[in-house]
Formats: sequence, C-alpha cells, structure tokens
Amino acid sequence: MENPFDDTYYMKKALLEAEDAFEKGEIPVGAIVVINDRIIARAHNLTELLNDVTAHAEMQAITAAANFLGGKYLTNCTLYVTLEPCQMCAGALYWSQISKIVYGARDKERGCIALETKLHPKTKMVGGVLAEESSALLKRFFIERRNLN
Ligand SMILES: [Zn+2]
Repeated sequence: MENPFDDTYYMKKALLEAEDAFEKGEIPVGAIVVINDRIIARAHNLTELLNDVTAHAEMQAITAAANFLGGKYLTNCTLYVTLEPCQMCAGALYWSQISKIVYGARDKERGCIALETKLHPKTKMVGGVLAEESSALLKRFFIERRNLN
C-alpha cells in the first residue's frame, strides 16, 4: 500500500504555509519540519513583518524544531520547503545536521545549488516536489505586487 504521508503530502503542508505568507504580503515560501511522520515545526517567510532579512521560512523552522526537540541538532528530521534554500539557509541547515531536505521549486539564481553551498555530509537533498505549485505561487505574488506599485 502507498504511504499517504509521502513527500507530496508534507510539501502540501509547506505550501499552506507559503499561502499564509502570501496573504500577509510576504514572499510566499513555506517550510515544515517532520520527524517520524510527525510535523514538529511550521513556518513561513516573515522578512517584511519582522524587518529582518534572516527571517526566511527555513530559519524559523529550524529554530522551532530545535525548541520542540530540546536540542540543537535536527538528526532524523526532514525539512520540506517550497523553494530551494538560499546560501544562508543551507548554511544554517548545515549546522543543524538535518537528515533530509526536500524542496519544491528550484531557485536558479540564489539557490544553494547554483551557489554551490555545501550541505552537511549527513544531509540528503531532493527537489522538484510540487515544484509547479510552488513556483506558480511565487510568480503570482510578484505579478500582483508589480501591479500594486
Ligand atoms: Zn533562505
């Protein structure tokens, strides 16, 4: 039988977070952290609200997950994020020693792959899960924002 709690299932949860960000006028990127089929952190981009360029979804998800676990390392955790992590987030994920990163859309300009940011040797990364949905949301956001100005 197919496991209903697969990468697509969790990426949908991350997309819900991205939609929350969209509603708040934030660049719509969402992230969740899962351990043993349990969601332990949900976050979305809050750089506008917090006036903080480091308030990316992943950064907050890392902090929330570590708080939940009561330890700084995210061993056995998977991060689902709708957009490929940037250098800063990939760097933070390196320190967290997270087991797996699953991203949606590629960020060919500012993503960690193009910029060759090193991941932790213990970290696996897979991409392209609900990539279309993730990038469609981002595109819609930037089109709407352009029309407001
Ligand atoms: Zn980032």
